[in-house]
Amino acid sequence: MRARVRTRRIRRRPSGAEPQTLTAPCSHDATHQRVCGTWCREIRLFPIGDWPRIAPRSFHPHSHTLKQTLSGRGFTLLEVLVVVAIIVALAGISVPISRSIMQSARERNCASNLCQIGVASMLYASDNQMTLPVTSHQRRHGGKSWTLTLQPYASGTITFKCPKDPVKTRGHTYVINDFLTPHPAGAPELNYSILARISRPEAVMMFAEASETYQNTDHFHFSEFHGGAVPDSVFESQVNTGAHSEKANYLFADGHMESLFRADALAKLKAANSAFIDPSHINSP
Ligand SMILES: [Zn+2]
Ligand SMILES: [Zn+2]
Repeated sequence: MRARVRTRRIRRRPSGAEPQTLTAPCSHDATHQRVCGTWCREIRLFPIGDWPRIAPRSFHPHSHTLKQTLSGRGFTLLEVLVVVAIIVALAGISVPISRSIMQSARERNCASNLCQIGVASMLYASDNQMTLPVTSHQRRHGGKSWTLTLQPYASGTITFKCPKDPVKTRGHTYVINDFLTPHPAGAPELNYSILARISRPEAVMMFAEASETYQNTDHFHFSEFHGGAVPDSVFESQVNTGAHSEKANYLFADGHMESLFRADALAKLKAANSAFIDPSHINSP
């Protein structure tokens, strides 16, 4: 007598039609079959109708979690630790890189601001007998601060604030060297606001970034050291020499801008007969 082998019949759907439920390999109740069918249809590992022929029964999802089904086993502790270590390492690399990108963007933004001030100053001078704009000290003589008079020469778009200025409340970060203003209080006999009197304009600092504690003034007070040298401590009490990670931006009297390390700025300051601050000196270190 021929033994009859009972096989489950699989209802196959017409070619191209979307399978709805898995009815053959799972012998559980209708609700569970529907869940299995939904799972199979979403994962799409195999066509619904091919389950019994090409997938081992142990692979069927009704007795496995999704992770177990896909991998055949769970993750070991070592694997998890390796993945976590990789994520931590990548984060450790990406954070300093993004911080560095942000810092250099701020430095470029600050440099751009100073370049705009330089262009505006030269345009102002060309309209005013080649003299530089005055400060709040000269206001009593009928003048206005450069913070006001330079704006029209940049269509009112100049930003006088460094994006990295630690003092958020002050109106401007950049401050003019008082040697380049008419008759500064420390040296009333001088007037280097007239550009033609500056013999080495490429060496003379015109604007720099003010220190955190040097506020509420639009000019530095260096002219009292006329004839001598400005001490480091005085210079750094007024100029933020480390505004951008040990560097700061400086605008010179010929309109060019330099980004100088603190040590380089102090070297220019201390060089013999340096014109870095005092235009009456002739050396250009
Ligand atoms: Zn800056
Ligand atoms: Zn003053």
